[in-house]
Amino acid sequence: MRIRALVSVVGLLLTAVAVDALAVTQVKSMRLWRAPDNTRLVFDLSGPVQHSVFTLTAPDRLVIDINGATLAAPLSVSTSNTPITSVRSAQRTPTDLRVVVDLKKSVTPKSFTLAPNAQYGNRLVVDLFDQEADAVTPPPTPPVATTPAVPVTPAQPAIKLTPVPNGKRDIVIAIDAGHGGEDPGASGSRGQHEKDIVLAIAKELQRQINSEKGFRAELTRTGDYFIPLRKRTEIARKKGADLFISIHADAAPSKAAFGASVFALSDRGATSETARWLADSENRSDLIGGAGNVSLDDKDRMLAGVLLDLSMTASLSSSLNVGQKVLGNMGRITPLHKQRVEQAGFMVLKSPDIPSILVETGFISNANEAAKLATPSHQQSLARSIHSGVRQFFQQNPPPGTYVAWLRDSGKIAQGPREHSVRPGETLAMIAVRYQVSVASLRSANSLKTDELKVGQHLNIPTTALAAQQ
Ligand SMILES: [Zn+2]
Repeated sequence: MRIRALVSVVGLLLTAVAVDALAVTQVKSMRLWRAPDNTRLVFDLSGPVQHSVFTLTAPDRLVIDINGATLAAPLSVSTSNTPITSVRSAQRTPTDLRVVVDLKKSVTPKSFTLAPNAQYGNRLVVDLFDQEADAVTPPPTPPVATTPAVPVTPAQPAIKLTPVPNGKRDIVIAIDAGHGGEDPGASGSRGQHEKDIVLAIAKELQRQINSEKGFRAELTRTGDYFIPLRKRTEIARKKGADLFISIHADAAPSKAAFGASVFALSDRGATSETARWLADSENRSDLIGGAGNVSLDDKDRMLAGVLLDLSMTASLSSSLNVGQKVLGNMGRITPLHKQRVEQAGFMVLKSPDIPSILVETGFISNANEAAKLATPSHQQSLARSIHSGVRQFFQQNPPPGTYVAWLRDSGKIAQGPREHSVRPGETLAMIAVRYQVSVASLRSANSLKTDELKVGQHLNIPTTALAAQQ
């Protein structure tokens, strides 16, 4: 009796082991996202898999072998506007699945797997990059207006002025709609997705800015697809952006939290707990979308050096200035979460040479705000208030060589006083370079007896035309 019982226990164990070995991963569904230069396929899996990807020609097709997997349901997605004509699948062995993607033209594939996160389980991602010849080449953009990295020493009595270009180019505003594709961002209780709301606001803001002479707006993302955070700032730089605005509508652990906020990059630490929390959740975006294998630690170390750079100081000061103007205008149409520009370590704000702000248009986790954010009329008002802040900033601080600078210098727009609030480490020479004026004109405009500056001291900045005469 006792022996027979033991035997049957062993038998049960053996059965359990055998079942476990046979247990294969299920491919539960396939999602597709089309970006301007690639098509992303995401397979949702019940567990981890091994896979391989290769292409075949005549006709062009892509083969995706997923080992240790079976199909839970037929794969179906809309392939319109993609190089894909159809997707077929077959079981090569009882546990090896082959997916064949039929193509109109050849593509360059790149694939990787992603571990589960808060929103999704295991995933296999296959990116189909359009081939170079097919990619639409964007028109050439004017060079980026950066503050020249002139080596300056505080003791230098005068600094050579960089010649002001004579052109009348547009001021370029890069508008970045946060999240996208398989990264929906925050979600409201009625299923509103941050990625959709912010894209609508971004497009409206682009429309408004483009209707104003002297300005051009470029979107980093034009549809529902994912872009890694670093790529967003890269796109802005390629477009020759004078300002980068990232638009979000976020969630907070407290459902009662409400109001809009504007952020600039912090030089060290976040200015509030909310700021820290938001920065963490926004920066997580890359882990959701698949740029998580990039070592951010390295970049941060590199950025630590960049932060000390003169141009960073200049663009951070501009970021705070434009941010405050945007916040002031937003405060007229929606409640504010904080009255002043907050600072936090958002990845998308880390462009050393482009003033950058992140606008949280409201809390999607708050039922009232989520409902408002989804209305086109509120989206328009938000865009209008951001636009007003941007216009005010650039009318007071037009980059040299732009149409707005020309208008200003030829007296066609009222010249509001320009002011600069001195930041730690800044010298009179640095400020002169930044505003393209001479140190002498700064001294006389502020009746300075010495070149010593105090942090927080307000300086009047003379107009370019006036400064050039001195
Ligand atoms: Zn967001």
